[in-house]
This record gives sequence, structure tokens and C-alpha cells, in this order.
Amino acid sequence: MAVLLRRGLFVALHHACRQGRSSVCHPALPAALLGARRTKKTWPVSFSQDELKKRLTPQQYHVTQERGTESAFTGDFTHHKEDGTYTCVVCGALLFNSNTKFDSGSGWPSFYDLVKEESITLSDDFSYGMHRVEATCSQCGGHLGHLFDDGPRPTGKRYCINSASLGFQSKDAAPASSGAEGGAASSSVSDGKTEL
Ligand SMILES: [Zn+2]
Repeated sequence: MAVLLRRGLFVALHHACRQGRSSVCHPALPAALLGARRTKKTWPVSFSQDELKKRLTPQQYHVTQERGTESAFTGDFTHHKEDGTYTCVVCGALLFNSNTKFDSGSGWPSFYDLVKEESITLSDDFSYGMHRVEATCSQCGGHLGHLFDDGPRPTGKRYCINSASLGFQSKDAAPASSGAEGGAASSSVSDGKTEL
């Protein structure tokens, strides 16, 4: 990400350079400047609202783009136990692994850890007269849910995420070019009359 920001700034500087002085652009920028840019709500990936309205269900759109919350126990992934990975439904960014999912009893999919620390951006949310920590996709800025500090070990964290914000990629459905053919999984199906 820093690379992208750097590149953007470099282009801007380069453009300035071309308008006059030397062709050598300033190579280094203060880290503080880069950091300051990060606080602006511009995300690496963006989609037009029209496209998202077509591609997402009304519920997915409402939750991710309007910071909505699905009703407890209504989401597709609340009790979902398949092995695989959970992604951002908007941009496809990898967010959670099924092995960090746990049953929190809250009615929303709950995870105690992220696949990558930087995949989610946290910010204060003071809506509804309370203070919560909002979890947002770091790639597209889509609303995911909230982070609480009452999760299980080892992290003690509970990422309380709307099913409507998530996509799921089954472990079994992952690109199967890893030479696993002929393995244990092949014992099922095929030639019609298999006798057990
Ligand atoms: Zn996203």
C-alpha cells in the first residue's frame, strides 16, 4: 500500500518536475506525510455505487456501503462450519480463515483472528450512543462489522462480522492444480454402481 501511495506521490512530483526544473524527482518523502495521507478515506480499490447495486444483494449493499447490520441469527454464515476462507463480498480481499471462526452465541459470524493484520482497518464508532470499534475492509472500505475484546484465546478478540459482508471459498473448491488428484477425496462418486 505504501508502495501505491509512494507511486502516486512520485507521479505527482514527477509531473511537477517536468514543468520546469531538473528531471530528478525527490526520492524520499517524510514518513509523516505518507501517514497523513492514510487517514484520508480513500481506499485502494473502489467501485461505482451503480455497479455494486447490481452485483450485490440489497442486504449486502446496505451492510457494506451504508454500514448496516443484519439481524442476529439471520445470516448465511452464522453457523457455517465448512473449511475454507472468508473474503470481502465487495472486493474479494481475503479476511478470515475458517479455523479462527468460533461460536460466540451472538448470532453473527465470529472470528478471533485475521489472516493478515492489515486486511482490516479499525475505527471508532459512536453510533447508537455507544462506543464500538468498527471493522472495515482495508481494500475497499466496505463495512464488515465490529471488533470486541471478549473473544477466546489466544487473541482475546472477537471480530463480529455480518454474513452479508462476506464471501466464502471452500477449501475443497480451491484451485485444484496442486497435484492432489487421486488422493483420498477421489474415493467418492463416479462409475454409477459403487457397492458399499
Ligand atoms: Zn473489500
